[in-house]
Amino acid sequence: MGTLWFGGKIRTLQHKKDIKEAVFVQDGIIKGVGEKSDLENQFKNSILEYKDLNDAVMYPGFVDSHLHMLGHGEKLLRLDLSHVESIDQLKAVLKKASTNLSQNDWLIGEGFNENLYPDQRIPDRLLLDEVTTEHPIVLTRVCRHALVTNSFGLQLANVDAETLNPSGGVIVKDSFGVPTGYLLDQAQELVKGILPKHDYSYLMRALKTSLHDLWRHGFVGGHTEDLNYYGDPVSTLQTFYDVIDGEKVKFRADLLIHHEVAPEIIVENNKCKNNPFINLNSIKIFADGALGGRTALLKEPYWDDPSTNGVAIHSYETLLKIVENARKLNMPVAIHVIGDLALEYALDALEKFPVQSGKRDRLIHLQVTSVELIKRLKRLPVVLDIQPRFVASDFPWVEERLGKERTKHSFAWKTLTDAGLICAGGSDAPIEPIDPMLGLHAAVTRRKPKENHEGYNPSEKLSLFQALRLFTEGSAMAICKERERGLIKEGYCADFTILDKDLFELSPDEWLNVNVVMTVVDNTVMFKRNSK
Ligand SMILES: [Zn+2]
Repeated sequence: MGTLWFGGKIRTLQHKKDIKEAVFVQDGIIKGVGEKSDLENQFKNSILEYKDLNDAVMYPGFVDSHLHMLGHGEKLLRLDLSHVESIDQLKAVLKKASTNLSQNDWLIGEGFNENLYPDQRIPDRLLLDEVTTEHPIVLTRVCRHALVTNSFGLQLANVDAETLNPSGGVIVKDSFGVPTGYLLDQAQELVKGILPKHDYSYLMRALKTSLHDLWRHGFVGGHTEDLNYYGDPVSTLQTFYDVIDGEKVKFRADLLIHHEVAPEIIVENNKCKNNPFINLNSIKIFADGALGGRTALLKEPYWDDPSTNGVAIHSYETLLKIVENARKLNMPVAIHVIGDLALEYALDALEKFPVQSGKRDRLIHLQVTSVELIKRLKRLPVVLDIQPRFVASDFPWVEERLGKERTKHSFAWKTLTDAGLICAGGSDAPIEPIDPMLGLHAAVTRRKPKENHEGYNPSEKLSLFQALRLFTEGSAMAICKERERGLIKEGYCADFTILDKDLFELSPDEWLNVNVVMTVVDNTVMFKRNSK
């Protein structure tokens, strides 16, 4: 028995202008796409339910091709205090957050800035005690060089009137010699050192928070890299299986495995109960750093600091060895490459140790390229994971790092696409915001929302259709599933992102006001916006 979706535009993304009237789904698979009356005739004995789109617009389900789901969840869990503008507001925000805590939880807030308060008063222990004495509180200052804690926090840290300043730090004390709770520089470690470590319940909370936010933004899946940052990698893997049960909780999670933990994770994953929503995808390797801190590995020195050309995370020989080892595990690799020399090293490794046939490697970020390197890329079975939003965030300072000439070949999404290379779209959340509308906007305009110029390197702008394909078909190709995901087409998975507007009829700045109406994974509604 199946479901007939109807009552709105269905943008299949098979072609730019392809719009259909209805979709029939059975057992999570699309069985027909076309006119409503035709599908009703064809499947008349199988239609169990009708789902009315109420004039909303259905797209193939969006998938973020590169993010860190746990990191994104963590970012949402932490209390952001950077916009608080008075002590009263601070107290109110903390009070509200304190009601959600379980026993033994710390209340952790980030980024308070007393310069925004009318009285510029720095919060102290006594003020925080008014919020709660049952939980330790720690608030870091926006500069990260100071924090404030409550009396409970000081007690757990064993800081009292007798405690001497540690070297490089100050324990601020009042006129009676009693600590105020304000700890500067190295003194912060007295509290930071006793903060709870990432335990299983924390990971569960972070992952669930992340998932809800992903669904809310229309995502049906993500290719996520988390398995080496939270203590035991096996329990991090287990968290995914425990949260995404494939029955009530559906989300297409394709996991990248940091190369250091790959053998262990592959063995453990084989022991896990089969779950079609969770797949190990590829082995993650870092080849270099990033342009911001001048650690992306460049062939020629940085324009604004000729003393360096960046940092190779591994020696050339080690990088080759890691790729060779991945092949022994029968796995594709996903290499973080930002600079052109890092890309050259990665290409050498992929050419020397090619991926097993039928699979694809991936190169992540690919910010600085060249005509020569693109020629080599074209000869390989490789997918490029690009994050359009970095253009909005990193320009114009990219030009200072690279100089005019190299900037022309950087973040060159149109050149890569036109060369026939497979590109997939992601956010790299929590580094960039998760919202796919921001990703689409950056790909199409190459500027920040509300800015008013023709964009950075405007010849590299993508069309909306190309940008949408990054987050749908591109993401499917990155995991070699383009014959079952990424389009609304017969035989494909019933994963849909349903928006209240047709993006093709709006200007890019208007996309930012478009709402997700429903997120559907395997024909199951995982998110539905409350109607007003
Ligand atoms: Zn990343």
